[in-house]
Amino acid sequence: MASADSVARGGRDMVPAMDRPETLWAPWRMEYIRQKKREDGCIFCAFPSRDTRREDLVLAVQPHAFVCLNRYPFASCHVLVCPRAHVATMDALAPDAFDATMHLVRETVTRLRGVLSADGFNVGMNLGSAAGAGIAEHMHGHVVPRWFGDTNFMPVLADVRVMPEYLDQTYAHLLPAFADLDQAS
Ligand SMILES: [Zn+2]
Repeated sequence: MASADSVARGGRDMVPAMDRPETLWAPWRMEYIRQKKREDGCIFCAFPSRDTRREDLVLAVQPHAFVCLNRYPFASCHVLVCPRAHVATMDALAPDAFDATMHLVRETVTRLRGVLSADGFNVGMNLGSAAGAGIAEHMHGHVVPRWFGDTNFMPVLADVRVMPEYLDQTYAHLLPAFADLDQAS
């Protein structure tokens, strides 16, 4: 039960731990469970450095940070911004890497606002497993676009998810907006 709980927590790590109803969407959870068994090491270290960007849903890679879609989102177009360095906390990140990561958070919001006509954003970080981080050993920021009337903030506050697009469609839709941020090559 403990492992199942940790798997569930990993996919919904901005959601408060209390009062979670059972998940309403099965496909992503099953894939997540299989993925967890397959992966060795840290996925946030692996994603920007390996040649499977589409499979990993990586949108842009920079020397100090990268952006990817959250494969287990709690709302549509839920994006993660991660430093390249494998650190758990902001103070463990070198100043230039921290600045680059925060800059990429800002650019991510700008790009998502443009391509999605979002009305607002939830931007945040869960630092430490006690705070709900699914992958606590590698810090990462969450950027979640919001629209007036989308779900009345239910995804964040009440764990109700709305998934109008599947992830590959979302990836294809967002990728052009991040093209000029990519410095991978
Ligand atoms: Zn890592």
